[in-house]
Amino acid sequence: MLTPDTMEKFAAIVGAKHALTEEADVAPHLLEPRGKFSGSSPLVLQPGSTAEVSAILKLANETGTAIVPQGGNTGLVGGQMPHGEIVLSLSRMNRVRHLDRADNCITLEAGVTLHNAQEAAQSKDLIFPLWIASQGTCQVGGNLATNAGGINVLAYGNTRDLCLGLEVVLASGDIWNGLTSLRKDNTGYDLKHLFIGCEGTLGVITAASMKLLPAPLDRATVFASVASPREALELLSLVRRMSGNAVVAFEVMPRSGVDMTIKHAGCRDPLQAPSDWYVLFELAGFDAEGDMSGKATDILEVAFEEGLVSDATIAASTQAAQDLWRIREAMSEVQRLEGGSIKHDISVPVSKVPAFLDEAIALAKDILPGCRPVPFGHIGDGNIHFNISQPPDADRDAFLARWEEVSARVHDTVRTYQGSISAEHGIGTLKRDELAATKQPVEMNMMRGIKQLLDPNGILNPGKVL
Ligand code: ZN
Repeated sequence: MLTPDTMEKFAAIVGAKHALTEEADVAPHLLEPRGKFSGSSPLVLQPGSTAEVSAILKLANETGTAIVPQGGNTGLVGGQMPHGEIVLSLSRMNRVRHLDRADNCITLEAGVTLHNAQEAAQSKDLIFPLWIASQGTCQVGGNLATNAGGINVLAYGNTRDLCLGLEVVLASGDIWNGLTSLRKDNTGYDLKHLFIGCEGTLGVITAASMKLLPAPLDRATVFASVASPREALELLSLVRRMSGNAVVAFEVMPRSGVDMTIKHAGCRDPLQAPSDWYVLFELAGFDAEGDMSGKATDILEVAFEEGLVSDATIAASTQAAQDLWRIREAMSEVQRLEGGSIKHDISVPVSKVPAFLDEAIALAKDILPGCRPVPFGHIGDGNIHFNISQPPDADRDAFLARWEEVSARVHDTVRTYQGSISAEHGIGTLKRDELAATKQPVEMNMMRGIKQLLDPNGILNPGKVL
């Protein structure tokens, strides 16, 4: 129990102004944008420095007070949601500490928004190549704590692959300064990887040194009709081969989802005749005089000849490219306007995506008659957002009440393809009870052992992941 005396001690660390208790101030931290998860908290702390985070955790550990770290509050699995605990908001720690062009490295505090990190890189003609729909709001600390993915993983890896070093405050209050910019360092265990993807259960990430890359100077964005995900994957192979591996994004979308973006997001149908499936892909090159659009034209010619593509358009301007990407980016939000949607974030080996989709779509239609599957996403990584919209005339709440039952069946199918039930969103509370069925007992034991070692009193984001 949090006594008034302990509350005061916590507030004193950050100053009264940054210790929020008024309902209106606390409320934004208790509901995530999609509205699936809500919570409660008596106190939101907004530390302004690593030293303050350290003092908070030290006091929390001594008093057995549970803490829920929170970044931009855009997580989709409930990992950032308090259930009576104190919220530790990293938003005020939003400085770019350092950018080094020779090291191609940027040191960011946890509360820097992804958008601001991208801008900082762009100001030096470099890129920070993490690209996710919530980038205006989400924060680098949260991206790391959840190992966020997104549309450029195909070329640049996920957040884990972009991280060189971390600064972490442990449950004890000890500060680990692991902010290295070294590209090679084989001195024992690589501890940063414990904290990346830990969803705040092993420590609080307060800063990170992240890789930067050269900014492409020549891009082509292509939207094409394909008969099915099988043709989409064959097209990916062709595009990789013919472009000299210049593919930085390769997404698949069904007609059902494109229809929703036309209806609700003001998107324009880019092609004449409707198709069951589409791909949206992007090529990036580094030759300012290059002709990536010409290359895309050559590739599409071969794709037409081989019967992989029935229609296609290449964006003729930056605006046209943005309009094409808008279709993909709006696909999540428009589903809300079509009633309830049961969502999954799964991955299977890339080669297995078409077979998985055949089976999972048939399953969804079988157990939810009249439903509208909207599976879309990062087919080049084997990661599909397997979402199922309710039948148009169905009752929303009754449909959503079947979430767990439907997910269990979809995830069973995922497991038969040796896939993952959480490709890029994490475990949080949404998938916590399914984790043991997904992991081997030996893996669960290692994870519990690490949790016990780093957070023996269980003060860090209790009830999440494990
Ligand atoms: Zn995604």
